[in-house]
Amino acid sequence: MSTTLSSAPYTVFFDEPLSALLESVSLYLHVPFCHTRCYYCDFNTYAGLLSLREPYVRALLTEIELAGEMARTAAGAPRRARTIYFGGGTPSLLSAEQIRRLLDACRAAFAVDPEVEISLEANPGTLPSAHLQALRAAGVNRLSLGAQSFDPHLLKLLGRTHSPEDVAQAVRAARSAGFDSLNLDLMFGLPEQTMAQWRETLLRALELGPDHLSLYSLIVEEGTPFFTWVQEGRLVPADEDLCAEMYEYADALLQEAGYANYEISNWARPGHECRHNLTYWLNLPYLGLGAGAHSCFAGRRFSNVREPRQYLHLLASRQRPEAESETLSFETQMAETAILALRTARGLHLPSFRERFGLDFWQFAGQRLRHVSEAGLLEYDGTWLRLSKRGRLLGNEVFLCLLPDED
Ligand code: SF4
Repeated sequence: MSTTLSSAPYTVFFDEPLSALLESVSLYLHVPFCHTRCYYCDFNTYAGLLSLREPYVRALLTEIELAGEMARTAAGAPRRARTIYFGGGTPSLLSAEQIRRLLDACRAAFAVDPEVEISLEANPGTLPSAHLQALRAAGVNRLSLGAQSFDPHLLKLLGRTHSPEDVAQAVRAARSAGFDSLNLDLMFGLPEQTMAQWRETLLRALELGPDHLSLYSLIVEEGTPFFTWVQEGRLVPADEDLCAEMYEYADALLQEAGYANYEISNWARPGHECRHNLTYWLNLPYLGLGAGAHSCFAGRRFSNVREPRQYLHLLASRQRPEAESETLSFETQMAETAILALRTARGLHLPSFRERFGLDFWQFAGQRLRHVSEAGLLEYDGTWLRLSKRGRLLGNEVFLCLLPDED
């Protein structure tokens, strides 16, 4: 790697150089509990295990301490942490006091930035005002609500247990509790979903004035009830053309309303881009803590055991719960950095690529990208390489070209 990293701010999102970002980490804390399982969900989460919440928090406290020791800098100092993200599962099922203890542990084990972004995923319908106020007081400063749809029938079809009114109520309560950075997750490309329903969902979401919107098209994953129902012919997946139309409609509507599409699935008001998720898209280091959480740090990708009881068992004897690990080749790191950056609206900053890897991007990928470039899927302005409008719909074709050949 190049040892001559410049001191210029890295990208439009971070006001600091790439070298500083590469020396820091983002922390992801996984909370694998939900009241019930949604029919499409394949995340590592469990219903019926709420009684494990306190033992799980205690295990997570131990893992944070062990991770802090493992991630110390070459000089032996605590590693700087820029963002903390509570994901799940349903992290809002933890008490504010449990969240505060976890944050204290992060501060004891890492050099957490004073202005750290602390996000927490929450489900509408499980958020009394007092709980939101306590979470805010504990230090959480960004809330991400799983709204998914404003259509009661579609919410039921998804297996969600909240109503559209619960979402509106949660947004109002979050604002009164002092959350000034708020995301809504919405889903499109759902079975039976019409364009009119999607339009209505977007308009209802915009009325609530979120700072950030994440729009995901449904992927029917193996092992979920949705997958079985599709196999049995009881559920018909959405038409691909309709999905593309929904995406384009949403993009136009949200941009018109002042939200910039800074990543394929994410729109934000200026200054409200999610700094934690940018860590992933800019391929910066992160540590995932908790059952099944994934990390990418020091040239390795690794993940924890998935099953919560096994996780508790290992941490009870202070063993790191790592289950799988892969050393990333130089070529894989270059490919992944390019693919992830191409998901963002600004694209890949070619001078930064050269700084990071000591290799000209075109030397690495010119030949591989020739075909998709000729097909008009890419735009290049001499500094930034990005997907064209057409390329955004066919991004996977570009990404496949960049992946290293299998041995
Ligand atoms: S609330 Fe989220 S994590 Fe929990 S089951 Fe539903 S989709 Fe999965």
